[in-house]
Amino acid sequence: MPYSYDDQNIFAKILRGEIPNDTVLETEHSLAFRDIRPQAPVHVLVIPKGPYVTYDHFAQEASDAEIVDFNRAVGTVCKMEGVEAGGFRLISNAGEAGVQEVPHLHVHILAGRPLGRMLARA
Ligand code: AMP
Repeated sequence: MPYSYDDQNIFAKILRGEIPNDTVLETEHSLAFRDIRPQAPVHVLVIPKGPYVTYDHFAQEASDAEIVDFNRAVGTVCKMEGVEAGGFRLISNAGEAGVQEVPHLHVHILAGRPLGRMLARA
């Protein structure tokens, strides 16, 4: 089934400048900003500017330039936030089982406190 992108999602509105965000980094193809409901002292979201729903969508259909830019943006944010010292978690939720709230690809960078085991049983 082809991926279907809803351009009314909240991150699309952030990218169009329709709602504000707390920007950490902006590059040619990516934007990083602080999560509005932080789950840890560091909680930054990194998103591609292109219309991709999930990580697999992006990995299959984005250009090489977008993929390089996005991964470099993640690395730059990790460095800016100093997360390598104490450790961090990188998460990308997708679809129903992944409990994805916003249908525009984003990775969460979480750090600054012990983050517990990777998965909790529902
Ligand atoms: P997910 O469940 O992976 O789709 O997570 C979506 C994340 O987006 C949640 O952690 C929300 O707190 C966050 N979020 C929703 N709206 C905004 C917003 N306007 N600015 C920043 N973060 C947001």
